[in-house]
Amino acid sequence: MKLAGILGALALASPALAAPDLATMGTAERAAFLKAFPKGGELHNHLGGGTPGELLLAWAIEDGLCVDVTELAIRTACAPGLKPAADVLNDEPLRSALMDSLSTRMPGHKGRSGHDQFFTAFSRRGALPKRQGDALAETLEGLARQNTFYAELMITPQFVASRALGARVGWRGDPAATRVALSEAGLEKLVPNVIADTDAMEARARAVMKCDTPQATPGCKVTVRYLFQAMRQGPPEQTMAQLQLGVAAIAADRRWVGLQLVAPEDAPDAVRNYDVHMRIVAEVTDQGRKAPAALHAGELTLKLVTPQTLSHHIGDAVRIAGARRIGHGIALPEEQGAHALAREMAAKGIAIEVNMISNQTILEIEPEDHPYAWFRKMGVPVVLSTDDSGITRSELSGDYALTVRNGATYADLKAAARNGIAFSFLPGEGLWLDPNTYRRPARACAGQIGRETPTGACAALIAASEKAREQWRHEHLLAKFEAEYVR
Ligand SMILES: [Zn+2]
Repeated sequence: MKLAGILGALALASPALAAPDLATMGTAERAAFLKAFPKGGELHNHLGGGTPGELLLAWAIEDGLCVDVTELAIRTACAPGLKPAADVLNDEPLRSALMDSLSTRMPGHKGRSGHDQFFTAFSRRGALPKRQGDALAETLEGLARQNTFYAELMITPQFVASRALGARVGWRGDPAATRVALSEAGLEKLVPNVIADTDAMEARARAVMKCDTPQATPGCKVTVRYLFQAMRQGPPEQTMAQLQLGVAAIAADRRWVGLQLVAPEDAPDAVRNYDVHMRIVAEVTDQGRKAPAALHAGELTLKLVTPQTLSHHIGDAVRIAGARRIGHGIALPEEQGAHALAREMAAKGIAIEVNMISNQTILEIEPEDHPYAWFRKMGVPVVLSTDDSGITRSELSGDYALTVRNGATYADLKAAARNGIAFSFLPGEGLWLDPNTYRRPARACAGQIGRETPTGACAALIAASEKAREQWRHEHLLAKFEAEYVR
């Protein structure tokens, strides 16, 4: 037993493993390899876009909803002229067209670009608001199937109430004055509602996954946290009310860990109000000191915006808003002073959430043309994520596979997976002293990483840190994976 333990520790410490060459693997071999590969954390995933159309239709039937056969949309009320969702199953051409409409699987659907098909799909997926717990279960099961056990999911709680309060208060001339007015109007009183919504969603998800029963499914083992997303569209005071409520929710409930700003970054309101949105995030988060923000920024190309708009969004998110992670960041090479900005992000440890499949579908950026390799070369931490896998009909493993077409090696993907926890918003000391490089473990855990159970000071570190706990679990999964698949 003792000898086995020593040999096990030696094997874990051995650097002699030959890294697999992902580029020369066939497509099928690479797909199977990356499905089993532990991918650490999924940090950019909108719960509202994570459910495949088949499931939305099944829920619509269960809930007695209807379908608009002209718009090919699920509707939450059955008005005259709409068809009961149950009838769709008896009409295969209609069912198939509905699946096209709820996803991006059919290029040029109804003459729309990938961008327009994607962003309009949300309004056709009508069954979701009541099914958030079911959607959560689906997402967590999907991650567990891919050997991935941490997620930060984007959700929009208390959307109507927070925005209505923002509309009532109005814009008071600057973010500081508006923040005070929103608080005086009772914005933070919505926090218990956010918590109640979260409780209800999780209770439903746990019931669906049969957690705490002998039939518990693997999704129960996924640790999940939430990012409070606010919409860029509409008047700034409404966007601000959402963000400010998000900060209050983060302070009150450990399941809420950060902010996000969503909706098309190229939409007129988003472009016009971009600067004020950055100042609002700075105000409500105290530039990231009070609460962390991961902001979509630079999900743009010249097909969508002017060169001027393309030149500053990421820089402003980093330097004005104090964003700790950047969603997409495709436009980084196009920003004014791109090299200096990339170096700054590398130095500050500001990660970019790369969504290869989403970028290919929405922005028409082929994997070979993605700036991912340059991010890596500049030392900017990168995580890989799905964005909206139910609409793009994809899985996290697919994003990893596509990144190989951009030159990613096994070592790059291993770093991306580790980054998925190291650059999460989980609190606590990390297991690594050098995130994104991973050569220096925390002193207490040196020589132990990869084992199943920590001992001594390492056990104490892990008991005290949510982040280290997830990293520890990931490293054990990685060691098991490499023992089986990496020779
Ligand atoms: Zn996104």
